[in-house]
Amino acid sequence: MSIRDEVRAWLAENWRPGDDPRAFREKAVDTGWLAPSWSTDWFGKGLSAHDAEVVGEEFQRVGAPGRLDRDHLHARVIYELGTEELKRSYLRGLLTDQLEGCLLYSEPGAGSDLASVRTTAVREGDQWRVNGQKVWTSHAREAAYGLLIARTNADVPKHRGLTYFVIPMKQPGIEVRPLTQITGDAHFNEVFFTDAVVDDANRLGDVDAGWFGLMTALGYERLVLGARGVGSRAYDPRYIGTADDLIELARRHDRLEDTAIAERIADTYAERTAARLNAARYAAEGRGHDAAAMSLGKLMMSRILHRTARLRRDIIGADVLYDDRTDPPSDAEVANFFTLDAYFTSIGGGTDQVQRNILAERMLGLRKEADPSKDIPFREVRK
Ligand SMILES: Cc1cc2nc3c(=O)[nH]c(=O)nc-3n(C[C@H](O)[C@H](O)[C@H](O)COP(=O)(O)OP(=O)(O)OC[C@H]3O[C@@H](n4cnc5c(N)ncnc54)[C@H](O)[C@@H]3O)c2cc1C
Repeated sequence: MSIRDEVRAWLAENWRPGDDPRAFREKAVDTGWLAPSWSTDWFGKGLSAHDAEVVGEEFQRVGAPGRLDRDHLHARVIYELGTEELKRSYLRGLLTDQLEGCLLYSEPGAGSDLASVRTTAVREGDQWRVNGQKVWTSHAREAAYGLLIARTNADVPKHRGLTYFVIPMKQPGIEVRPLTQITGDAHFNEVFFTDAVVDDANRLGDVDAGWFGLMTALGYERLVLGARGVGSRAYDPRYIGTADDLIELARRHDRLEDTAIAERIADTYAERTAARLNAARYAAEGRGHDAAAMSLGKLMMSRILHRTARLRRDIIGADVLYDDRTDPPSDAEVANFFTLDAYFTSIGGGTDQVQRNILAERMLGLRKEADPSKDIPFREVRK
């Protein structure tokens, strides 16, 4: 039986539209279908990238949640970089949605230049003591743990003195304060560490070599953000923005016959299709992990989200100003939300400008920008 037939048969038996996604994920994790490319020891089926893609297509066709080996950033980082013990502690909970995590990277003085983080981790026997501050930490309040990048050595240049950890969030030395975003949501936070602790067993990779793990993780993040237009309400079906629902929107507002609007809807559809095909091409060429390819996808998605939001507003016209927060939300509210939320993917996970730098350097081979602080001990860098 081909993989397609096998997965179809399994789905026919186990998935009905409207089923509880959590209960379904439990079954899918235990049979290996949710993370098909992972090893059979760790919730996968050990399938090739091509076969895993086929599995993903079949899940998508019936509307079942799937492909968490590719799309679940936290699970993927722990699968790739974690010890057996970390995998045992976290992977199943993450895949079944019983555990939530957060990314403790950005700081007030270190966003695009993450090698400049100042939060410190100092070793004390089998533990590390953590002090400092992070910012823009999505979901920190709900998170059971965070992927933390901390400075462990200030006597070497900035990229070489960082260590990557999985730190439990629910402990006395960690204070989380919500930040309200321009959309009115507050999904990100400031996080303060005062003598918080993390076991050495929770280290991802070698001491002072955290930059390499972090680069791998950031690449996955770009891939995840590039593959879909996520936003803080991205899973609310009332807010999902597809080209098809733009057609419906234009019909509702009597703008479908407007050739300028119709052309822009067609352009949006073409851009989305190009982004999807580009990602599929890179995957087929075995370049799914290529940093430049991931940056291209992320940059395109950011552009599509901004353009789609503008198109929504133009379809609605002046009525977009009547945003009176109804339930279900009016077209105006959805358009306004998407307009403000589009900045999520053009800043979060690395800004558009930084993606362009990556493309210039790694895809076009242009000269790397100068960084005078790159080769001097971090302790001596002007802060
Ligand atoms: C919705 C959202 C969610 C987020 N969630 C998280 C999270 O969960 N965890 C986390 O750690 N962080 C998170 N972030 C933070 C995000 O990763 C940073 O905001 C981002 O990396 C930019 O860093 P910065 O804000 O310090 O801006 P800066 O680095 O100060 O940049 C300011 C401006 O200068 C430009 N710039 C900087 N350096 C260069 C350069 N070399 N070349 C060209 N232009 C440059 C930038 O593109 C930007 O326009 C989130 C951000 C957003 C918006």
